[in-house]
Amino acid sequence: MSSSRRSPATRLDPRRPLVFDTRTLPRSPGSARTETRTVPAPADLQAGLAGVAEGADLRLDVMLESVTEGVLVTATAVAPVTGECARCLEPVAQTIEVSCRELFSYEQGAGNTDEDGYSLDGDLLDLEPVLRDALVLTLPLAPLCQEDCPGLCAECGALLAQAGPEHGHDRATDPRWAGLRQRMTQAEPVGSPVPETREESGRGRP
Ligand SMILES: [Zn+2]
Ligand SMILES: [Zn+2]
Repeated sequence: MSSSRRSPATRLDPRRPLVFDTRTLPRSPGSARTETRTVPAPADLQAGLAGVAEGADLRLDVMLESVTEGVLVTATAVAPVTGECARCLEPVAQTIEVSCRELFSYEQGAGNTDEDGYSLDGDLLDLEPVLRDALVLTLPLAPLCQEDCPGLCAECGALLAQAGPEHGHDRATDPRWAGLRQRMTQAEPVGSPVPETREESGRGRP
């Protein structure tokens, strides 16, 4: 009668950082306890240009509540996010906070498995998949180093945040551009496109 149950032999390891033990939580609806932990972030928390580094500190505030069907878990996690600015590709470091709430049902008899939900494993529950989903959904897909990051100069690739608002390429009179162009030309590997230089000399004009 175990056709629909998934490998009940693999029990949760209570030493894993995101496994919570509900033994001390009375199984009478209304009982609750809270727990605060800092745990190392699991691997593969990545989405787009941003992610939480494996092993980084995740700060967790967890409330475990007894309800009729099982244990209701309400968790808040604060995680450091690192990545690349979507506009200028400079490193980005920020912090995200996510909240999630999930019911872990008491283990049910064979043939009565709830495929969609989470279940307690004995007294243990594993918050990792819940937290992982919440974190990945909250990661910024296009992180910015600052709200109004001006990005890169379309012509020379300079960081506009550092080059300043007056950065531009109106004419070949900008000494910074002239110097940069010289360096780029000198450093140009064979076969790469050379920057447009037609206007440099001014020749060919009436
Ligand atoms: Zn930026
Ligand atoms: Zn430029």
